[in-house]
Amino acid sequence: MKKIGVLSLQGAVDEHIQMIESVGALPFKVKRSSDLDGLDGLVLPGGESTTMRKIMKRYDLMEPIRAFASEGKAIFGTCAGLVLLSKEIEGGEESLGLLDATAVRNGFGRQKESFEAELNVETFGATPFEAVFIRAPYLIEPSDEVTVLATIGERIIAAQQANILVTAFHPELTNDNRWMRYFLEKMV
Ligand code: GLN
Repeated sequence: MKKIGVLSLQGAVDEHIQMIESVGALPFKVKRSSDLDGLDGLVLPGGESTTMRKIMKRYDLMEPIRAFASEGKAIFGTCAGLVLLSKEIEGGEESLGLLDATAVRNGFGRQKESFEAELNVETFGATPFEAVFIRAPYLIEPSDEVTVLATIGERIIAAQQANILVTAFHPELTNDNRWMRYFLEKMV
């Protein structure tokens, strides 16, 4: 059984744990760098990226997560996780720098703090994905290394670069586990 960690400092942890179980993998909560030992993949959940980064730095988790990725292990970031994985964050905050694009935090503006949208995702075939956005970011300026998986207008809201997968929305808040299945079956 594949072992998937969920960074459990803050944010939507339990929903990801259930999603990981639903695709037949074994979830683990990650709070310290030693918790990464033996894992096959890692999820960075949604929450508040500023708070999460602060705690990650306090517990010296930034470098170990970068090292985990450079070993080729897969990382899936949702919402705040997308922000933390991006190479740049608009405004200049520090990030993990693992996906070559710039994140625009709260990119959908105040009037649309939370909304749902039906996405057509080529990888998943004809059935649209019902995506939940909560103060969501989006990505701009992807390099050629980045494959865009879903957009709303010009805004990139799901992407992959080799072993890194990001969504601006929260697949763990729905019953549709296709993103986690994709992560597990194609990337981990
Ligand atoms: N707006 C949050 C941030 O930039 C992300 C929101 C979320 O994860 N739902 O960190």
